[in-house]
Amino acid sequence: MDRVSARLEDLPIRDDLRGLTPYGAPQAPLPVALNVNENTHPVPAAVADDILDAVGQALAEINRYPDREFTALREGFADYLGHGLTREQIWAANGSNEVLQHLLQAFAGPGRTALGFGPTYSMYPLLARATGAGFVAGTRASDYSLSADDAAAQVERAAPDVVFLCSPNNPTGTPLRLDVIEAVYEAARGIVIVDEAYQEFAPRDERSALTLLPGRERLVVSRTMSKAFAFAGARVGYLAADPALIDALRLVRLPYHLSALTQAAATAALRHAPTMLAMVDDIVEQRDRISATVSALGYTPYESWTNFVLFSGLDDPKAAWQALYDRGILVRDVGIAHSLRVTAGTEEETSAFLDALASL
Ligand SMILES: *Cc1c(COP(=O)(O)O)cnc(C)c1O
Repeated sequence: MDRVSARLEDLPIRDDLRGLTPYGAPQAPLPVALNVNENTHPVPAAVADDILDAVGQALAEINRYPDREFTALREGFADYLGHGLTREQIWAANGSNEVLQHLLQAFAGPGRTALGFGPTYSMYPLLARATGAGFVAGTRASDYSLSADDAAAQVERAAPDVVFLCSPNNPTGTPLRLDVIEAVYEAARGIVIVDEAYQEFAPRDERSALTLLPGRERLVVSRTMSKAFAFAGARVGYLAADPALIDALRLVRLPYHLSALTQAAATAALRHAPTMLAMVDDIVEQRDRISATVSALGYTPYESWTNFVLFSGLDDPKAAWQALYDRGILVRDVGIAHSLRVTAGTEEETSAFLDALASL
């Protein structure tokens, strides 16, 4: 019988990709989706109009390649981040996943290693391995915190080419103190990436790792518009680092990797940063309500400086995940024993989750 299609294992695929399955959280059309830490508030209408105007103007020149250096967008990010940064210190790509990929392509790759402190963002090992690099799984204390001495000792032992510090950490929500970053930087010979995907949800008076950049040419602070900015669908991530490090990324990026439409949309959205970020306070309030309520229900929430809460105390997280699913609520089983992770949604969505959890 004729086969309509070959099987993956019949193809001359790279040996290190054999047997792997594609990664991705389930995308199910449930009414309450709190599984991938999106900002569940839509972009405000006035901002959406301005973005549409900007995209319309970009369309008038869409027959031409875009600005390869995305100059206006880099200026927008430098202004937004502050700390005296200039556009020479900024890089951007299609989501911070691509930003991290560029970093690994330039600084990891075959024969090299990257290290992250697990449990942490599950894309770090996948991105590292896709460049042919090895991945070293560092560890955390039982409450998922990381101390300066412990982190520095692990980095010294493994001597990785790239270190990932997720601050605050996904999927646990754990804050990371700046002294840990300083100690890891001193212990590392390679580059140190501080992934601040959730920084906007941290307490307002907390210092960002951006304050550590001066004099540290191997330090990188990465951010994304996917979480606080309610821009996940546009795919825009960025970083700040020494201009020489940015030059290294120009060696591996595809020419014109950021489309003219993406550049226009993101630049327009950044002009409205205060409006775009107005929901952050609401989300933080819902996050704290989740922590308080799951605790009252007898579960144990972990401290979170993000827009989600990891909580433990579930006998059977898979069964709980399914029971919530059956009630129209999508949360995340991140593979940590007795635990589930839930994103803080709007007040309504958060109530729907908490009511469903209480009914289990
Ligand atoms: C969501 C997330 C990202 C961002 O991903 P994008 O590609 O920008 O959507 C990066 N790092 C961490 C830790 C995240 O949780």
